[in-house]
Amino acid sequence: MLEILHRIIQEVNTAPDLDQALNVIVRRVKEAIHTDVCSVYLSDFDKGRLILQATEGLRQSAVGRVRVAFNQGLVGLVYERAEPINIDEAPAHPRYLFTHETGERRFHGFLGVPIIQNRRVLGVLVVRQKEPRRFDDNEVTFLFTLAAQLAGAITHARASGELAAIQDRPRTPTRFLEGRGGSDGVALGTVVVAYPPADLEAIPDRSSEDSAAEEQAFYSAVQSVRQDLEVLGARMEDRLPREERALFDAWLMMLDGDSLVEQTVKRIRAGNWAPGALRQTIEEHAMAFDQMDDAYLRERASDVRDLGRRILTHLQEGLSREVTYPDNTILAAEEISAMQLAEVPRERLVGVVSATGSSSSHVAILARALGVPAVMGVVNLPVGRLEGRDAVLDGYRGRVYISPAPSVRREYQRLADEERILSTELEALRSLPSITQDGQAMPLYLNTGLVSEMSALGTEESAGVGLYRTELPFMVRDRFPGEAVQVANYRHVLETFSPRPVTVRTLDIGGDKPLPYFPLSESNPFLGWRGIRISLDHPEIFITQIRAMLRAAVGFDNLQMLLPMISRVSEVDDALTLIRRAHDELQEEGYTVKMPRVGAMVEVPAAVFQVEALARRVDFLSIGTNDLTQYLLAVDRNNSNVAEIYDDLHPSVLRALNHVAEQAHKLDKEVGVCGELAGKPLAAPLLLGMGMSSLSMNAGSLLRVKWVIRSFSLHEARDLLAEALACEDAADVRKLLGDALENKGLGGLVRPGK
Ligand code: PEP
Ligand code: MG
Repeated sequence: MLEILHRIIQEVNTAPDLDQALNVIVRRVKEAIHTDVCSVYLSDFDKGRLILQATEGLRQSAVGRVRVAFNQGLVGLVYERAEPINIDEAPAHPRYLFTHETGERRFHGFLGVPIIQNRRVLGVLVVRQKEPRRFDDNEVTFLFTLAAQLAGAITHARASGELAAIQDRPRTPTRFLEGRGGSDGVALGTVVVAYPPADLEAIPDRSSEDSAAEEQAFYSAVQSVRQDLEVLGARMEDRLPREERALFDAWLMMLDGDSLVEQTVKRIRAGNWAPGALRQTIEEHAMAFDQMDDAYLRERASDVRDLGRRILTHLQEGLSREVTYPDNTILAAEEISAMQLAEVPRERLVGVVSATGSSSSHVAILARALGVPAVMGVVNLPVGRLEGRDAVLDGYRGRVYISPAPSVRREYQRLADEERILSTELEALRSLPSITQDGQAMPLYLNTGLVSEMSALGTEESAGVGLYRTELPFMVRDRFPGEAVQVANYRHVLETFSPRPVTVRTLDIGGDKPLPYFPLSESNPFLGWRGIRISLDHPEIFITQIRAMLRAAVGFDNLQMLLPMISRVSEVDDALTLIRRAHDELQEEGYTVKMPRVGAMVEVPAAVFQVEALARRVDFLSIGTNDLTQYLLAVDRNNSNVAEIYDDLHPSVLRALNHVAEQAHKLDKEVGVCGELAGKPLAAPLLLGMGMSSLSMNAGSLLRVKWVIRSFSLHEARDLLAEALACEDAADVRKLLGDALENKGLGGLVRPGK
């Protein structure tokens, strides 16, 4: 059964469209469990009914015509209960419904399982038997597994407009793909799909402007691969056994045989660009192998894909990889890297959509820093079909509208215009101080370092740098940067902001920031070797960085150091020992270096509950709400499956923050927030009420948060905090704060429009 299941899933996943996927399912399931009928019904939410979408065993003419209301029949019952119904005598059931159109006779055995995605029943998968039959547990779980597979395909099809039968009404304004808001704002634009090089599956279809040139590029890529293979094959002659070497011959045969090359060329001539045509052909061939009974032959599917990747690599070298970015580019991808984001000229980038990640992924942080709306974790983003499509993004609510209806477009255009007005109003706050109505100052600092160009933004506006992430120079090289390179980097930021303080965080690699030349393979990277743990285990790396920071500060004296991922006091003690050692060494070497102020990040629950002990050891505390939320709620900050429950306004997070602030106050220690929460207008009154000494955020948030600070009195903020701390649910907190902002006329900061 497992073998059959595996094969059906392969076929479903590679079917070119939903109809074919459904047909595969009904045909294969009917065969596999020896039943008389297998059908799929899909939910039409607009009209409250289920439509027969594919069947094997009933009349084909009934497809699209048979419609059952959600509250009718056994199929409707499966929908309503959202659980399987398995009965041997269906006609005896009060909900049994006889439908003439299907050519149905009285089927007795009935098993229906719901097709569910994100708690919604998208349809029902049904098998029926002429005789009374109770399906066994294995058969039920078999259908369950297939239904789960189908759910993704159905959601894709709904989103991309492929499902005509359940889109028989004009597009309604409510049809959108759902993700998580990654960066506030709305955007209207044209999608450009970013894909990693040589990742065949991620290649989109794209119409070509010059088919002849594409064809030529394809032929020369094939020729290059042929040469590579000949060279490789010859080189391996005395190193690999004959059987293994046969692979090279097999690849060469595939290239020399007509079908692969010819079919790709045919697709290019039909208008697809070469990489898209190649992807389609390779998928088709690989699928043919996938379906073979012989396990050895099935394995060949991966060889075909490998060959495809080799051709693609050459194609990408040969073709000009210059992408033309339209004026209003919305960058979309399965997973967007910081580099891809940086490749789009800033003035053309209006939005970002990613199938993976959440609002606290570093790409989202980057988008916020750039002031570009972003939607993250759109699990069902049909990346391959998005190139060149019109889209609207709602970064507040995490929505993506693909080819939106004119009414949606008009509405969002209006909201975008309002946002522009809002930005102008925000600009007027630029030179005003960040103080409350009753005169309490709340210094606003800048988070920077993820992309070098960012240092120019908000430079004037901020009280300094509250978090300089030092990972980037480490990530873009092929080895650890030396002391001199680091001195130059840090000096640049210290000089730019001097005399204002700059808080430079020591290296925080690991987690979602691996270094290509320092491979870590861990099953739980966020609970693994990261941040200060790596630094203390590799004092040579740490000391080099500390020396570079201290040397960079000579003559400016505005350096503060920050230690990430602290979970025990000994880490602070050990780090301080190394910092003092580096300081002494440099003095001996003749540098006039001052011992900087050193702070600890509070971003692990252990630090929250030992905050006093930590505070006694350092000069200041800085709360990293991104990781603190992840660790307190046990929710991976990058995992789109759980992005919905990653919430930094969760009452537990608020209580943890409040506790840290109270303890720090007792010891008269400065405590600020540098996680993303600090840049959220909604949270500003709470952090103010807690008595945080400063907030550090992305450049794009500075004026928004300042506006909130200037609109509240400390007294009001404290009242609001007391109410928020009494809430039991993040939704209540959000409502409370949303209302408070609306009352102050600041609603435009937390929802689309002004
Ligand atoms: C945090 O965790 O809140 C933080 C500021 O650090 P980073 O996002 O770089 O992990
Ligand atoms: Mg962190």
